[in-house]
Amino acid sequence: MKITCELHGTIRDAFGTDAVTTELREGATVADLLTALDGGEERLDPLVRTADGEIRSHIAVHVDGEPVAACDGADTGLDDGDKVTILPSVAGGSATLPFEMEIVRLGNAAFEGHNNCYVLGLEPDAELTLVDTGFPTDETRADLEEGLTDLGVEFADVERILLTHWHGDHAGLAAAIQETSGCTVHAHETDTPLIDGSEATQDTDDPAFLDTLDSWGMPSAKQTELTEFLDAAAAEYAPPTVETFADGARFDLGSVELEAVHLAGHTAGLCGFAFDGHDGRELFAGDALLPYYTPNVGGADVRVTDPLDAYLDTLTRIVDGGYERAWPGHRGAIVDPTGRAADIIDHHRERTRRVVGVLADGPATPWEVSAALFGSLRAIHILHGPGEAFAHLNHLTAAGLATQTDAGYELTTPEPETDALFPDVRDRLRSGYEPVH
Ligand SMILES: [Zn+2]
Ligand SMILES: [Zn+2]
Repeated sequence: MKITCELHGTIRDAFGTDAVTTELREGATVADLLTALDGGEERLDPLVRTADGEIRSHIAVHVDGEPVAACDGADTGLDDGDKVTILPSVAGGSATLPFEMEIVRLGNAAFEGHNNCYVLGLEPDAELTLVDTGFPTDETRADLEEGLTDLGVEFADVERILLTHWHGDHAGLAAAIQETSGCTVHAHETDTPLIDGSEATQDTDDPAFLDTLDSWGMPSAKQTELTEFLDAAAAEYAPPTVETFADGARFDLGSVELEAVHLAGHTAGLCGFAFDGHDGRELFAGDALLPYYTPNVGGADVRVTDPLDAYLDTLTRIVDGGYERAWPGHRGAIVDPTGRAADIIDHHRERTRRVVGVLADGPATPWEVSAALFGSLRAIHILHGPGEAFAHLNHLTAAGLATQTDAGYELTTPEPETDALFPDVRDRLRSGYEPVH
């Protein structure tokens, strides 16, 4: 018999397509369907089912519109022509969270893809709170206004905005919302000067930024291309008034408290917000932890002096937090934050090996290392590529395995052992974890 399957959100992203038709034997169940889709290749299972075959609590599986949770769960029988939908159960409310939460997805063509604006405090007595906003463009503003209207609220109702970090795709609309509603805007003390406009970075007015690009060996034509891109992206940015907080700050949400967790690296003041979920701690992660690709370190905030060291500490902090689930600044929920942090550590361990491979051919600047690793770059990647190369070169230098000379960075020993420069978190991984790299 033939079953059509529709995939949504993180499931669709992981599977790589939004619809698939499968041939199953007569009498097959939802469990058989999931096994067929997974194909033994973990395309679906770690996201949708636990190691013992239970459908995860935050995943909704519907057969012809009926949730299987209301039937026999994974044992629900299928008939020829059934349409099965698999989706993270976020869109339809937040039954798996101890408070109401909705996600408004905002357009973002320039950076890591759609931004998530998390809408909290929707209960009558709670403070209506947004975690992050979006780019200060008319299009993104319309996305957010429309999304809030669907939830029965508007800019004027917003009482509080919590910002994970200063980047325009997260903080950019805070001023417009504050102007309308008079809401408070909160950010970590280290990122606040870049949000309230008291300091500038990464623009042509910031000599320290231009010095940094020089020190990376970036050719002047590329510096011009980059600053033009950044100035254009920053043009409509109006600063809000911001209240600062530090690591450990608490924000009352009625039924739960959010706790600020400083997660430096991607930016100096990036903060997540942790809370007690039904199954354990959960985390609004901002860009500290993203599904499928690794947050940029080194180029995303040039104020961070030892960016990779800072970020590895952050990944270790996430592992130590033992989070049950993370809600990133882009894309869908991360169901195994510890495993994801371990994957990103692996990714950087491997990238350092590649950087060492480049230096084996002779001294190189961050710009040259970036060219060897990533090829030619455009737009924001002109900054992110050499920034990331710098982060790795800096990490090697701090460990005494490389040194900076007039010609760039060079190895101090021909074949350095670099794996020990990365934390080993294997003993804290969940059973059933499989590395992606
Ligand atoms: Zn960011
Ligand atoms: Zn972002």
